[in-house]
Amino acid sequence: MPGSLLLHGRRGVGKQRLALWLAQSQLCSSTSTPCGACQGCRYATELTHPDLYWFFPVPRAEVSDCSPEEALAYMRGVMRDRAKDGGLWGPTSGSEGIFVEMIRALVRAAASTPAMGRRKIMILGDADRMIAQEGSDQAANALLKLLEEPLPDTTLILTTSEPGALLPTIRSRVVSVRVAPLAPEELRQWTEADDVRAKIGRIDQTILERASGAPGALLAGTSHDTAAAHASLWLKALRGDTSDRFIAVLSEKPAGARGAFSDALDALEGMLHERLRAAVDDASPHAASLTRAQDAIEGARERASHNVNPALITAELLRELRLLGVNA
Ligand SMILES: [Zn+2]
Repeated sequence: MPGSLLLHGRRGVGKQRLALWLAQSQLCSSTSTPCGACQGCRYATELTHPDLYWFFPVPRAEVSDCSPEEALAYMRGVMRDRAKDGGLWGPTSGSEGIFVEMIRALVRAAASTPAMGRRKIMILGDADRMIAQEGSDQAANALLKLLEEPLPDTTLILTTSEPGALLPTIRSRVVSVRVAPLAPEELRQWTEADDVRAKIGRIDQTILERASGAPGALLAGTSHDTAAAHASLWLKALRGDTSDRFIAVLSEKPAGARGAFSDALDALEGMLHERLRAAVDDASPHAASLTRAQDAIEGARERASHNVNPALITAELLRELRLLGVNA
C-alpha cells in the first residue's frame, strides 16, 4: 500500500466502500487479507476502530466553528450511524462539504500515535468537496504536506468522482487508482444480499441495467433515474439529425455543470460501458470507438468539474461522439 492513495471512478461505484475494506485489511491482525474475525476487523466493520478515521461531506452547520476535537467527535458519531444503517448510504447532497474544521481534525489526528494497531488509516471521501474558506490555507497546506510525506504509521486514502476538481497539487502527490464499475452479475448478486434487499427492496432488471455497475445508484433513488433519462436524451439526439442535436444542446442549462449534469455524464458513461462490454464480447469493430467515447466523456467530466457551461460541454461531447460513430 502506498502512503497516499486516490481512488477515483464514477459516483456510486463503491470507492469509499473499497477504501473501508482496504482500511480493514491494514487493521486486521491475522493476515494481509481481512479475516473478518479478529478484534481489528470487528472494530473496523463496526466503524468504531480508534485508528480508522473517515471524513466525508457533512452539512456546514454541523462542524461550523468546531475545535478539531469536536469535529472528530462529530465524525465518529456519523460513522457509527452509517454502520448502524447496514453500511449503506445514499449520495452526498449538493449542500454538504468537507470544511476547514474537518481538515484541521484530520491533520491533528494524523499526528497522534495509533491507539490499537500499528497504523492509522485516514479516509477522505469525496475529496473534491473540500471547501476553500477563510483561514483554510494553513489547513490545506498541512494536508498537502501529509500527502507528500505520509507519516510511516499513517495511510491516507482519498476518493473522488471528479478528479478534475481536485487541486493539481493534491493529484500530483497521490497514487491514483481507477475503480471500475461492477459487472452486471456482480451487481445483481449484491442486490440479493439480505441487508441490501431490506434497504432497497426487490430490483427489477431495467433498474439494474440503468445502474450500470454502480451500487450507489440503486441507493440514490430518483436522482439516478433523472440522470439516466438525461443521458438517454443525448443518445436519442445522436441517433437523430443536426436539429435533434441542436435541441439537445439548447435544452441544457447555461450554468451549474457540477451536480445533476455530472450525474448525467456518469449515467451516459455507464450506458456506453455496457455497450463496450458487449462489443468486446462479440469482438465487434465498435469496441475501439466505444473506448474512445469513454475518453470523450472523461474530457466532458473534466470540463464540468471546472464549471464550464453545460450547453457548451454537451455540444462538444455530442460532436465528438458523432465523429466516433456512437449513434446506434
Ligand atoms: Zn482480521
